[in-house]
Amino acid sequence: MELRYARIVEALLTLAEAQAHVLAHVRPLAAETVALDAALGRVTAGPARAAVDLPPFPSSAMDGYAVRAGDLPGTLPVVAHIAAGRPAPRPLAAGEAMAISTGGVVPDGADAVIPLEYVVQHDNAIEVGEGLEPGAHVRPRGGDTAAGAVVVDAGARLGPAQLGALAAAGVAAVVCARRPRVVVLATGSELAAPGSALAPGQIYESNSLMLAAALAAAGADIDTLPVVADDESAHREALEQGLAADVLVTSGGVSVGPHDLVRRIEAELGVEEIFWRVAIKPGKPVSFGVRDATLVFGLPGNPVSSLVGCELFVKPALRALQGLRDPLPRFEIGRLASPLRRNDGRDELVRARSRVDREGVVLEPLSGQESHMIVRSSAADALVHVPRGTGELAAGAAVGWLRLDVP
Ligand code: AMP
Ligand code: MG
Repeated sequence: MELRYARIVEALLTLAEAQAHVLAHVRPLAAETVALDAALGRVTAGPARAAVDLPPFPSSAMDGYAVRAGDLPGTLPVVAHIAAGRPAPRPLAAGEAMAISTGGVVPDGADAVIPLEYVVQHDNAIEVGEGLEPGAHVRPRGGDTAAGAVVVDAGARLGPAQLGALAAAGVAAVVCARRPRVVVLATGSELAAPGSALAPGQIYESNSLMLAAALAAAGADIDTLPVVADDESAHREALEQGLAADVLVTSGGVSVGPHDLVRRIEAELGVEEIFWRVAIKPGKPVSFGVRDATLVFGLPGNPVSSLVGCELFVKPALRALQGLRDPLPRFEIGRLASPLRRNDGRDELVRARSRVDREGVVLEPLSGQESHMIVRSSAADALVHVPRGTGELAAGAAVGWLRLDVP
């Protein structure tokens, strides 16, 4: 007799559906005022506007002489010396020149600066052999921005360039979403702290440090709780503590084993589960729920699954909580260096190394793609998205890839 195995096709959520569920449950956090020197990495809650025109006055772009363009060519007496921060005592009159440094105030009456290198300098006069356009080498007042104009829009993460722009525009403090408070909790009776000796059956605990690092870099304040054993009352106590945060992220205990307690205890504590299991590899058993305003992520214990789940679900939620525009992961386009087999049931996130050739980014999948292989994974700087399907993606095929940033 021929035995036929019907394949059980589970109606798992797709990655995009699961991410949409997460974002649909985010309520942006309240805003607070943040001093500019503490605002690196923060997300603006409203538009930040210039306090002054920038430049605040017509300023010289060169070291040279402030003149009237119409007086050149010619020989002009030098009647004053202007340095940055030290304006001229009086306006420039017709037929005169004033020495000026880069950043000096172009005096009233002058309309151009002739750079030093075009000038023959005599004791108290300059000789200029050529003409000059009005406005030459003068940075007009407000040429970069005007007082009251938006320097950084709402929903932007403040990096070095934005902080520089705000400082230049005289902004000392910005209104930003408050930082999300995240509790990280690893579960598992087999987990030992690095540095201790391993008892039989133990492994070193890696996820809480890894997740805390990833989420702190994404703008969160992290509280890492002590690891809990696979014991109901220990889970109950730690999970209840975690549910006071904006976001609770657990690792382990969300699969189907008898010791996988996280979802059941969370349900007892009033967490409404929004989804469990997503059609991705690694990371399929991921869970997501809410209790009041707290977002609750259950990442699978295998370290690579935890890392991938953090990129795909938790970091987007943190970005959305902070009000960032486009919170979803940014997949870019690259080409595969070698073929990849597709999985007909799940989208795969393949760890790879990126390099650049003349045509763009090339992605080299790493060997050792199993979800416990965190050491192999640590050599990756890219996650390649292989949509589910049949056959393989050929070498050279265009694929979406996500940068795994080192903060
Ligand atoms: P679980 O999701 O609890 O079934 O765990 C799946 C696998 O990941 C098991 O082999 C665990 O030993 C391992 N694991 C769970 N939590 C951690 C952790 N925090 N650090 C390292 N490995 C873990
Ligand atoms: Mg476990």
